[in-house]
Amino acid sequence: MKYNRILLKLSGESLMGAQGHGIDTSRLNAYALQIQDAVNNGVQVGIVIGGGNIFRGLSGAAKGFDRVKGDQMGMLATVINSLALSSALEAIGQPVKVFTAIPMFPIGYPFSKWEVIKTLKEGSVAIMSCGTGSPYFTTDTGSALRAIEIEADVMLKGTRVDGVYTADPEKDPEAVKFDRITYKEVIDRNLKVMDVTATALCMENNMPIYVFNMDKEGNLAKMLKGENVGTLVE
Ligand code: UDP
Repeated sequence: MKYNRILLKLSGESLMGAQGHGIDTSRLNAYALQIQDAVNNGVQVGIVIGGGNIFRGLSGAAKGFDRVKGDQMGMLATVINSLALSSALEAIGQPVKVFTAIPMFPIGYPFSKWEVIKTLKEGSVAIMSCGTGSPYFTTDTGSALRAIEIEADVMLKGTRVDGVYTADPEKDPEAVKFDRITYKEVIDRNLKVMDVTATALCMENNMPIYVFNMDKEGNLAKMLKGENVGTLVE
């Protein structure tokens, strides 16, 4: 395998599948199988999940919620998604441990870099919920932070498209995919890979980001073997 330890970021939206809201269990089970397969191939898998399928602080603030409370609601949404994925992994016999950036034992274990690394070395999946634990951040930034903290070799960002394009491929048929691109180009061209805070954090700490379509079954395994199924940001 090309990578030994990965941090996989899954968006909350991707968990909705075709349903358009909540959690699509068939999508969840498909993810669980791909993740288990990676572990069986000797890869240590840390995961950060978003909460956008349930609640986003910014849309809450637009409706008149206090922004900090809205963000806290969003962070709790990531815990719900994390529990759902942990349950799907357990159901197929894959050991998994959920960590929370905000203490709420026994729902999850308090996040600690060393506890996560210990969990990964034991062959368990570690799901790190609540993003960074602070408002005004996103789970993209949370996953960049955790990838750096747990000394992952790469941060994988699963999306609905096959990588980073010159324009939105769902809107512009002329859009061309990059195989590799620099952090600076992503920021300068305002490409919607991740938010600027997350991209800058990866840039400052030399954490490569691999953007790919996680919804195509088998793509995670291909990526881990070194096949070109997405875009490397470095
Ligand atoms: N959030 C937060 N701090 C963090 C991570 C997330 O306050 O470090 C909140 C924020 O309100 C965000 C919501 O949790 O809108 C859900 O996360 P995100 O929007 O990143 O989820 P995704 O788009 O990946 O589904």
